[in-house]
Amino acid sequence: MDLDSVECVSSSDGMDEDEIRPNHHHSEFSSTKPRNGGTNNNNSVGPTAMAPATSVHELLECPVCTNSMYPPIHQCHNGHTLCSTCKTRVQNRCPTCRQELGDIRCLALEKVAESLELPCKYYSLGCPEIFPYYSKLKHETVCNFRPYSCPYAGSECSVVGDIPFLVAHLRDDHKVDMHTGCTFNHRYVKSNPREVENATWMLTVFHCFGQYFCLHFEAFQLGMAPVYMAFLRFMGDENEARNYSYSLEVGANGRKLIWEGTPRSVRDSHRKVRDSHDGLIIQRNMALFFSGGDKKELKLRVTGRIWKEQQNPDAGVCMPNLCS
Ligand SMILES: [Zn+2]
Ligand SMILES: [Zn+2]
Ligand SMILES: [Zn+2]
Ligand SMILES: [Zn+2]
Repeated sequence: MDLDSVECVSSSDGMDEDEIRPNHHHSEFSSTKPRNGGTNNNNSVGPTAMAPATSVHELLECPVCTNSMYPPIHQCHNGHTLCSTCKTRVQNRCPTCRQELGDIRCLALEKVAESLELPCKYYSLGCPEIFPYYSKLKHETVCNFRPYSCPYAGSECSVVGDIPFLVAHLRDDHKVDMHTGCTFNHRYVKSNPREVENATWMLTVFHCFGQYFCLHFEAFQLGMAPVYMAFLRFMGDENEARNYSYSLEVGANGRKLIWEGTPRSVRDSHRKVRDSHDGLIIQRNMALFFSGGDKKELKLRVTGRIWKEQQNPDAGVCMPNLCS
């Protein structure tokens, strides 16, 4: 952790309890594998009500790819089932018995699936929700407990994980600068400010109030005009991001631009936030004016602060989209 030039002006935030803890209340749903085929029955305490559900769940696992099967579920003449994705890959041969596959649906299994209720697949990450079989997938694409994508911009990084994991990943794999504290004072220097086309950008991670924030700074083309933009993203979900605010200031020669906003969640991609212009935007002419000197070099001094808002239960989700 790099502490220089960073000063924490606010120390009034109490303990930030991490409330998103994995809870294992629903772990009884977790196992899809029978334990030891019943040889331990002598030791079992009471009837095991989960056993039938477990085996139905197993029936719904495609024997080829082991993914859960969704309609249409197929079967061969001998009754071996497989998922629709695998069916297109096996060239009309049942992978289990090698017989011709034909085009038989397994309606009974589809109906059984319909009657099932299953926990969200992120139950081990803390999601307590239980869904009818066919609406489970839809929920899982928006589940608050789903892992986050790597917030590093400008790369095709496909790493996912929880926030502590991603913070370590940004530091170790992307060599991102890490700062502790809720105020910052950054200098962005670029020797050839005329080149904006190949979007130059920087990322710094801030750690304060027990949370992590990503400060993005980048140059890009806004319509015909080259601009610089700085904005903050919160490493967590949208509903938590709303508990924080931040300000950014840039200026020189008696002028300054100030941006005050709410950090966006890293659930929103870097590009989405940038394209909604939700941050401090500096026109290049102004940026060069702020840089002083002969305007051959970009030298922007950006100062900023992050603070915690009073809890406001009535605050709704409100995000600008200024693009025309
Ligand atoms: Zn399959
Ligand atoms: Zn078969
Ligand atoms: Zn969930
Ligand atoms: Zn990454």
